[in-house]
Amino acid sequence: MTSEPTQNNVAETVKSSKPTKAQALTAVKGMNDLLPPASAQWEWLEDKVRGLMARHAYRNLRTPIVEPTALFVRGLGEVTDIVEKEMYSFEDRLNGEQLTLRPESTAGVVRAVVEHNMLYDGGKRLYYMGPMFRHERPQRGRYRQFHQIGAEALGFPGAEVDAELILLAATLWQELGLQDVRLELNSLGQPDERAAHRTALIAHLQAHADVLDEEAKRRLYSNPLRILDTKNPSMQAVVEAAPKLIDFLGDASLAHFNAVKAILDASGVAYRINPRLVRGMDYYNLTVFEFVTDRLGSQGTICGGGRYDYLIEQVGGKPAPAVGWALGVERVLELLKDQGTLPEAVGPDVYAIVPDAAALPVVFQTIQILRAHGMSVQMHAGSGEGMGSMKSQFKKADVSGAQLALIFGGDELARGEVTLKSLRDGAGAQEAVPLADVPTRVAAKLSQGASQPQSSA
Ligand code: ATP
Ligand code: MG
Repeated sequence: MTSEPTQNNVAETVKSSKPTKAQALTAVKGMNDLLPPASAQWEWLEDKVRGLMARHAYRNLRTPIVEPTALFVRGLGEVTDIVEKEMYSFEDRLNGEQLTLRPESTAGVVRAVVEHNMLYDGGKRLYYMGPMFRHERPQRGRYRQFHQIGAEALGFPGAEVDAELILLAATLWQELGLQDVRLELNSLGQPDERAAHRTALIAHLQAHADVLDEEAKRRLYSNPLRILDTKNPSMQAVVEAAPKLIDFLGDASLAHFNAVKAILDASGVAYRINPRLVRGMDYYNLTVFEFVTDRLGSQGTICGGGRYDYLIEQVGGKPAPAVGWALGVERVLELLKDQGTLPEAVGPDVYAIVPDAAALPVVFQTIQILRAHGMSVQMHAGSGEGMGSMKSQFKKADVSGAQLALIFGGDELARGEVTLKSLRDGAGAQEAVPLADVPTRVAAKLSQGASQPQSSA
């Protein structure tokens, strides 16, 4: 028998399981800390995305990480990998609500758009970034907390918006310098076309019931389209010979598909039609696409999306069309790392060396001015027993990766000067600079250094 969970007995459990000798706790399996310097690479990518989204007039939307479980069950479909086995769901112990850590963000975006009546004055172009949660077996490119960046255009029925979104992603790869990414494209048609195809598909699969695995048998009537996505080698031949959805599309669906392709062709975006591309969620119709790579093993999809014209209605809104995609941040960064083109973390512009604490007021005054000019400055911090020897301070300056050192020595300060020393050019050239001239001299030195070839990007 389980007792009613309360605030108190959770605290009791924690207390009673408390180790006698403090034992180090670790992060939850599959959920990672992001530490410097790697975090700078995430910021770099996020900055690129913000700039790109702004130039495409997509605006940022932030929704909660926790949503009602029903949103995902209704939105994603009950017979999907995510809803069947990957969701972190729990009961709010204070009011019994069924809640889930979001496994993806489209459902939440749609919920927010409906809740705030955002489509009342026309379509909306939105983007988000943030953590998602899926209970999967952790491996390279697959984590339990991972991060997505997504773009959604809601309220627009036309193929031009499908193409805009695909181009947006393709431009992002270009601006990130990502190579070897292929675009795969398919059309899932409309529900009635899918129904006709489904009937033909079930008949075909039934005729080959002997080779279907357990999962396929289970999905034969609930979600036969997903069977086409199988990775089971002994089912490949049957899947290969199955009726293709594209042959069941009517004129309107084909015209939509052709319009998307025409814009991609005119824009020089290469793609491959993959008639077996179905995507993991139930909510898609018409255009679906994935950007894939061969470099990440079976975690080769870095971005996926498509049109979802019926989801808004399904979540309780007034019917409105929509299309969007989501990319996996870890996979994109992994790929850039693999290519060797991830930018190296850079140190500060200036390291302030403080031989004597008496100089601190002048140090603060000076470095605040540099920072106000946009330069990054790391101040030497004392050890508790004074500021430390010059030797140890220079060692720290070197480790910091700073370009320049500003030395606030007592004698120079008495003359109203500081010493400016280059830390990166080997020769270690140094000069005395009047305090008032420090911002201009430092800026000049930095731009001089920036014009010389550097090892780090
Ligand atoms: P997969 O087939 O690899 O499981 P998916 O179809 O479940 O991917 P989507 O739901 O379409 O993935 O999510 C969009 C993107 O988010 C994926 O292309 C991938 O880059 C990333 N992604 C999905 N699941 C994970 C995960 N567990 N860890 C890291 N990235 C993920
Ligand atoms: Mg998955």
